[in-house]
Amino acid sequence: MKKEKVFPRLMGYAGKHKILTYLSLVFSAISGVLAIMPFVYIYFIIRDVVQVAPDFSKATNLVFYGWMAVMFAILSIIVYIGALMCSHIAAFRIAGNMRIKATEHLTTIPVGEIEEEGSGKLRKIILDSSSATETYLAHQLPDMAQAMLMPIAIIVILFIFDYRLGLVSLIPIILGFLCMFKMVGPKMRKDMAEYQNAMESMNNEGVEYVRGIPIVKTFNQSIYTFKRFKGAIDNYSHFCISYTKRCRGPMIAFEICVNSVFAFLIAMALIMNGVKATDQTFILNLIFYIVFTPIISTTLLRVMYMSENTMIVEDALRRVDSILSIEPLKEAGNPLMPNGDEIRFDEVFFRYKNKENYALNGVSFVAKENSITALVGPSGGGKSTIASLINRFYDVEKGSISIGGVDVRNIAKEKLMDEISYVFQDSKLLKTTILENVKMGKKDASLEEVKEALRLAQCDDIIAKLPDGLNTVIGAKGTYLSGGEMQRISLARAILKNSNIIVLDEATAFADPENEYLIQKAFQNLSKNKTVIMIAHRLSTIKNADKILVVNDGKIVEEGTHDSLIKENGIYTNMWNDYQKSIKWRVRNA
Ligand code: ADP
Repeated sequence: MKKEKVFPRLMGYAGKHKILTYLSLVFSAISGVLAIMPFVYIYFIIRDVVQVAPDFSKATNLVFYGWMAVMFAILSIIVYIGALMCSHIAAFRIAGNMRIKATEHLTTIPVGEIEEEGSGKLRKIILDSSSATETYLAHQLPDMAQAMLMPIAIIVILFIFDYRLGLVSLIPIILGFLCMFKMVGPKMRKDMAEYQNAMESMNNEGVEYVRGIPIVKTFNQSIYTFKRFKGAIDNYSHFCISYTKRCRGPMIAFEICVNSVFAFLIAMALIMNGVKATDQTFILNLIFYIVFTPIISTTLLRVMYMSENTMIVEDALRRVDSILSIEPLKEAGNPLMPNGDEIRFDEVFFRYKNKENYALNGVSFVAKENSITALVGPSGGGKSTIASLINRFYDVEKGSISIGGVDVRNIAKEKLMDEISYVFQDSKLLKTTILENVKMGKKDASLEEVKEALRLAQCDDIIAKLPDGLNTVIGAKGTYLSGGEMQRISLARAILKNSNIIVLDEATAFADPENEYLIQKAFQNLSKNKTVIMIAHRLSTIKNADKILVVNDGKIVEEGTHDSLIKENGIYTNMWNDYQKSIKWRVRNA
């Protein structure tokens, strides 16, 4: 994206607030010109005083000039406030529109892509990038309008009074510009992107580090376990230090130039007019220039930040574009209604983005309506991938997946969502009341329905011990639930949703025996008369499954019931034997 495209790009998000942005630019420029006027009146005051000296009673216009200076100063402030009001309204709307557009786009892209990008990163891009444009549009752009118009006005004024002094004041300005170019030249864009990348990776690693604290504590590790976090911090600090060092020289030179215009003027005036300066007009002009030149440095500083800020916004827009460029999930043109709930995988091939190997290598199976199909097999075999393709977390690369005889790509998105409930190992609950959390399964559910779902999910004991029962906010005031309890609440949500198809990722890792028993009961209640696909980690739970699929290396390597698979004496039999041994080991060591 080119630099000059920033403004039109932002205006693309402005909608009907475009006019406010333009108004803010005009007001701000006018306010800048008005701000020059008090200096002119101060000059008139000095001129009158010098001209009538020593009989100051002849200086009759001083009060008028004084008031005019004050009036123009106030007028300039009022117009500037007007400019800021317009720019702020526009900026907030534009940033809001950007957020809405990016967030709406997120709802159209495959869920899997969101998981892969990381919700934290996406959130950061959407919020930070839009707020970068907010500051730019609300403050920097109106200032830029001033910064662009004021140098013209300043140069005109500088030449009106005494063109020689005007030229002299331009020398430090030009030098200042040269120093500035050294700092913000073409390399700056690369630096800014590098800076943002370094900060983003430090943020990401920071989050990972905080998430990993329990592991660090449990295994008594030191912070150096988090090499990547330390690397990200080092990288950021190296970049900042080297960048600061690179800017040190030009920055000092720039500051000296813009703040020393008056010293330059005096020196040049002495050279031009000799030490015994007697030319009254010349002295007057010199005084004017000395009074006036601080305005030049302020303007120059604004110009300096102008290009830096533009680059920050360019980078922000690029980041938002990276979200908007993720392909949305294709919606069926003429959606079809599935005829029943039988799930069929037909020669499905699937590969994760940026991966060479296929995660699924021609998977075919049928999960009959109202039956339980279990997926077992070694870790990394492809079980979760199979589960995630059913409701299009991703789309298949080759082959097809159908529900009730209709390819999932031809079923309306909402219908597909209604049709399937997922219960993950790490089912997420929101920081709101239990009631709201369960009601997410069915928005218009009555209180009775929610209670019934909680009862079926074996949650009565959880509700009973919470201070506000159903209205207890999870995570607030120290109300935390154990992993097993959270799973039961999320099972209640799935029971309330009452979808025909249930995809379960059996979670047992953190459940204590009591919880485990209750979770099993809740599973049974949820699975009654449903088509169930279950990723099983403990073989005892699926012994009675209607069909067991052994998944290995992205393929279904064995298929059948428990008894038929045991007879095959293959991978499943080995797994079963290992499982039996592990149970005996556990019993013996209990
Ligand atoms: P299982 O559930 O049987 O443990 P998965 O379906 O999670 O297996 O993984 C199958 C293969 O796909 C593995 O090689 C795994 O590394 C890879 N994989 C899983 N999820 C992703 C992902 N989000 N991005 C890239 N590769 C993945």
